[in-house]
Amino acid sequence: MSPEPSAARPVDDAGAKRPMPDSILADESNDALIAAYGTNLANRLPMLYCVVIVNVLMLAFFFRDTAPHYLTIWLPACFALAASSRAIYWMPANYRRRGFAQVKRDVVWLPVAGTVLALSLTVWALALYNYGGDMRQALVHYIVAITCFTGILGMTHSPATAITMALSVMVPSSVAFLMHDNPNRYPIVVLQIVVSVLLIIITRGHHRDFVGLELSRQDLARRERESAERAGHHQEQATRDALTGAMNRRGILALFEDRLARPQALRPWLALLDLDGFKLINDTYGHAAGDAVLCAVAERIGQVPEIDAHGRLGGDEFAILLPGDMNHGGVRAVMERLAEIVSHPIAFDGRMLAIRGSIGIHRCADSNVSENLERADVALYKAKETRNAAIGEFTAADEQVMRDKRSITRVFTSADFESQLAVVYQPIVDSGKGHTVAFEALARWSPDGVEWLPPTDFIHLAETTGRIGELTAMILTKALRECRAWDHGRCLNINLSARDILREDAAPWIAGLVEAAGGPPDRIVFEITETALVNDYRRAADNLAKLRRMGFRIALDDFGTGQSSLSHVNNLPLDHIKVDQSFARDIARSHSSRAIIGTIVALARQLKLECIIEGIETPEQQVIAQSLGLRLMQGYHFSRPISAAQAIAGIALPAGTDSRGAA
Ligand code: C2E
Ligand code: MG
Ligand code: MG
Repeated sequence: MSPEPSAARPVDDAGAKRPMPDSILADESNDALIAAYGTNLANRLPMLYCVVIVNVLMLAFFFRDTAPHYLTIWLPACFALAASSRAIYWMPANYRRRGFAQVKRDVVWLPVAGTVLALSLTVWALALYNYGGDMRQALVHYIVAITCFTGILGMTHSPATAITMALSVMVPSSVAFLMHDNPNRYPIVVLQIVVSVLLIIITRGHHRDFVGLELSRQDLARRERESAERAGHHQEQATRDALTGAMNRRGILALFEDRLARPQALRPWLALLDLDGFKLINDTYGHAAGDAVLCAVAERIGQVPEIDAHGRLGGDEFAILLPGDMNHGGVRAVMERLAEIVSHPIAFDGRMLAIRGSIGIHRCADSNVSENLERADVALYKAKETRNAAIGEFTAADEQVMRDKRSITRVFTSADFESQLAVVYQPIVDSGKGHTVAFEALARWSPDGVEWLPPTDFIHLAETTGRIGELTAMILTKALRECRAWDHGRCLNINLSARDILREDAAPWIAGLVEAAGGPPDRIVFEITETALVNDYRRAADNLAKLRRMGFRIALDDFGTGQSSLSHVNNLPLDHIKVDQSFARDIARSHSSRAIIGTIVALARQLKLECIIEGIETPEQQVIAQSLGLRLMQGYHFSRPISAAQAIAGIALPAGTDSRGAA
């Protein structure tokens, strides 16, 4: 391994342009530069020492007969030995074994060692000079010059040292040469000086290039490191949930995708955990309490050792991955334990917040992220639906339901509404007077012309496939054309989807459809459920107000279920409230249902709204509803939904014998 500076040492200043040091050693804090120079030396020095050895041996050989032994054997032997050991010392293989501290010492001491060696060689060569004639002296000229040049070339890391070295060889040798009467002395001295000067200039350029290159390499490495760090930081931020510190949706889904790429047997178990009652905590104790709950839950999930990874998908929903080699019983046991841990009360602001988690489990069979998520979601939905079970599992039966749903979605996407949609009408009756006051238009869809599907099977499809506007327009137009209830003094109720009422152009669009179909606005009642209001209360309220100004009437449908809020009733431009049929179902046996209905009736009276109860199926329910102050009713007891022809025929009869009871 090549000696590298310790990572803890500062290698470089950040970014700014630095002055080029005249010598690497002038910038001794730059360890990386010294290490690079060491590597460079290890590739050159052994060769240069070989040149020295050859020169020494040549000179000793040619003076062997004329000079004394100490000059031709012992001293050259010492030089050759010293140069050989230095050559071996600097060989790349040996160099790589040394630590950086030693390399730094070697680089620092090299100019000193080099100068001493060069000076000793010069002195030795000059000592031989007197023992030779012109020929041998020429060899000395040559050897001294080579030594000088080699020294300069060896010192490229430090031009200042190269000059010192050149001077320490050139000055004594030039003086010595000039003092003798060798015929070549002048050209030799001039040549030696000129070449040395040129070499020093070249060396300086070389040195500058080397340092420049190394510094830019360092800059580049630093920038790469910084951008890698930044990228790592961004990656970390992009995949972390800022609130809980767990992975966020992006992070956990990326990991999930990665796990799904494994062979089938090792594909993970996916569990979705959703908190029950989280909204209540948020609404009651504020968002800080909600945040505390989410953090605590994330932490608790992280404490279950069997869990491979987890992340927050959004809101109060967490995704959990379990190893694919766990068996079904093991996964169930772990999830039951998790549900138990999650249900421990959470301390917040001196209170203990109770929360419960529902978990949907799915054994991932294929490699598609959204397919697996959808299946786990089905399992979660099952867990939520079953009151006393925290865990739901995706089963083969669910797979079948999902397939059916998909195939019906496909069929619906290309359905021809004109021929496949029909409208049936259910009377709303005045139970006191015993006659119909309005008909509610209810959509039916038949993909095959045989079986007619109820709206619960396809309204959602229409919304998700973006065909709801088309469907509403079709139902509204059909209803207005075939059931002209206003011709008989009755109203026609039309259901609108949340999406219809949240359209920017809702009011002019609906009014345009009604006008085209030829219906009087004051005989048309639009029914909306509270879902529309929950999504965007302001826009829904604005559009309803516009419709009302145009003369239409508005009914709040399915009132009393799920998201009901009294403030909606108070602030919305309403004409009717329709009490949800679940209250009628329980009206005979449930005191609280009766109490709620009584409250709604009182509220409607105060707000001067008409109150209608839906789902009256028996005479007993009708009587109780009447006793609670309700007059307007709808339900199978009076009539199931019927065709337009039946509806019109019913109300065309003399009063008291209208459409009630028709199937
Ligand atoms: P809704 O507006 O509350 O309509 C009443 C639903 O209750 C109808 O179901 C009706 O058949 C049913 N119903 C009436 N009386 C009784 C009863 O005594 N017992 C029971 N068990 N059920 C009764 P349907 O036709 O299946 O419609 C379901 C929902 O679909 C409607 O509830 C309405 O919200 C929606 N819907 C119907 N037609 C359309 C439409 O054209 N557009 C939109 N956007 N939604 C529609
Ligand atoms: Mg309705
Ligand atoms: Mg309803």
